[in-house]
Order: sequence, then structure tokens, then C-alpha cells
Amino acid sequence: MEGQDENLVDVDVYDDGISRFPEYAWNSAPTDLLATRRQLRAAGLRPGGHGPVAQLRCRRCSYQPHAACTHLAWLYRIDLAKPKIPMTLAKEAALDRAMATRTTCPVCQVRFDYCLPLKTLGSCWPCSPEGIQTREHHDRELGRDTAGTTALAA
Ligand SMILES: [Zn+2]
Ligand SMILES: [Zn+2]
Repeated sequence: MEGQDENLVDVDVYDDGISRFPEYAWNSAPTDLLATRRQLRAAGLRPGGHGPVAQLRCRRCSYQPHAACTHLAWLYRIDLAKPKIPMTLAKEAALDRAMATRTTCPVCQVRFDYCLPLKTLGSCWPCSPEGIQTREHHDRELGRDTAGTTALAA
């Protein structure tokens, strides 16, 4: 038994491990201090740059308080919570991502300032088979090579 006690002191896992978190039974956590991620989100908040500080046992376990809960929810400090990213900004970011896929050529990864005919060409015009033909034809006429084109682009 002595050896076990020494282990408890030496093993670091007890310092930052789950076993250290206070565990609250369902509906017993101080709702003015702690909230789950879902509760924070409902209040327009998100965890403010810190890890969970406690755990909440699930509703079902309130009927069997001695069983180990397998549906523990993390609890975060409300006083440290930060406002969620405003919806408009999140929407803008999503729109911009959608726009980026429509304006970025999957072949050369260049982003254009207009929507590419990805459904028909599948790439920007210079990357499309016809575009390459036209360009090669064009370059031959002008006596240019691809190195010249690269220099222009850079
Ligand atoms: Zn449970
Ligand atoms: Zn391209």
C-alpha cells in the first residue's frame, strides 16, 4: 500500500488529468459560474481561451449517482467566456469560402476575380485544353516561350 501512495505523488497524470475535475450531478452545477459549451453557445458565447474546469454528469446518471458517467459534459467558466464570432462575420467567411471555390482554378490554383466556368471547362481558360492550344498558338506567333509567361506572372 505504501508503494501506491508514492505513485499517487509521483504520477503527473493526477495533476492535469480528468480525475481532478470537480464533477457535478445533473442540475447541480452553479449555473451562474459554469456552463457547458452548448449552454455558452445558446447565450452567444464561447469558451474564453481556457480549458474546461469541471464536468457535468448527464441527466440519466442522476438516477444512478454511484455509477461512472460516460456522458460527462465539460463545464467552462462563464466569467471568462468570450462573445461568439458575430453571425455576419461567420456568414461572410462562409460566403468567401464558397466564392473562393468558384473563382479559383483547381489546376493552377490562381484565384480570379470572376467565376470560372468550372462546370464546362473545369479550370480557368488558360488551363483548359482549348486555352492551352490557343496560348501555344499565340505564343508561337509572338515568338514567346513559357519562360517569358512565367516571368510576366512573377
Ligand atoms: Zn451519465
Ligand atoms: Zn488555371
